[in-house]
Amino acid sequence: MRIGFIGLGAMGFPMARHLAKEHEVIVWNRTREKAERHAREHGSHLADDIADTANTDVLITMLPTSREVDEIVDRLLPYVKPGMLWIDATSGDPSVSKATAQRLAGKGVAFVDAPVTGATVGAENATLTIMIGAKSEADFERARDVLRLCGKTIIHAGDIGAGHAIKVLTNSIMGATVWMTAECLLIAKQYGIDLKTALAVTNAGSGRSNASENLLPMRLLEHKWPLVFKLAHHDKDIRIASSLAHAQHASTPMLALTQQLFTASLHQLGEGADYVEVAKVIAAMNGTKWDESG
Ligand code: NDP
Repeated sequence: MRIGFIGLGAMGFPMARHLAKEHEVIVWNRTREKAERHAREHGSHLADDIADTANTDVLITMLPTSREVDEIVDRLLPYVKPGMLWIDATSGDPSVSKATAQRLAGKGVAFVDAPVTGATVGAENATLTIMIGAKSEADFERARDVLRLCGKTIIHAGDIGAGHAIKVLTNSIMGATVWMTAECLLIAKQYGIDLKTALAVTNAGSGRSNASENLLPMRLLEHKWPLVFKLAHHDKDIRIASSLAHAQHASTPMLALTQQLFTASLHQLGEGADYVEVAKVIAAMNGTKWDESG
């Protein structure tokens, strides 16, 4: 199968690598050097022009937001062909996805939203969970047949937009959990309980989560703060989740607070920050630091 792949970032680069093991993958990236490296090292084909990615059976986008996806749709609309499938793996906005799907349907192109969860390690190891919004079972099966090379669990979430919706909701759960866990660990520390002990108790009990088991120990005990998922992307996800609540006239105070805290943290930490660095903001709000690095 010929697959076009646009967006070789932290997630897209390894995903396209897995696809190139079985398919003819034509890669395009805004910063061309990344696409050149991908073609050189991973057996994909460098697109001479972005239009080459539309001369394919399936086109995959893995971009920061639906805004960049929309820009790419604008550029490729004259080149897409009836019968193609467009898979948008971006964590995007469901309402934009529905409009995009309509624009592509006008050209005979099917669209599915297929965001992923599982972080960069999941992309590297092809163990991502992928949630798909598809108009039909047939579109879902087509997408699954391609994405099985990138993920372990692939779920049909519902109609177009449902993948993007559940993705931002699940990331909001994660955001609130990271925040709350870091707050409680800071109180434990200030009470005089060793952080290692506080984490051991949390992980042996009902406060256990991905935040307490995986995300915070590395940062708080080993003082390593790697950039794996941009806070800017996480903030974007939680803002989309808030917009869904708003559209449904829902009362969701915890979601609203989480969004406010993440947006404030982004303003404070800047575009280059990783999402778990919100723990540094919590420390700063209490006039302290976790350690000398933050
Ligand atoms: P990155 O910032 O690492 O990569 C973004 C990619 O989009 C790069 O290839 C970048 O190109 C490209 N890009 C950015 N702006 C434009 C533009 N205006 N036009 C064309 N291309 C553009 O992001 P991630 O890979 O981390 O994230 C991608 C998506 O996946 C996001 O929606 C994110 O929320 C989601 N996600 C991320 C996870 C993670 O752990 N990182 C986990 C799950 C989902 P260039 O190389 O030129 O900068």
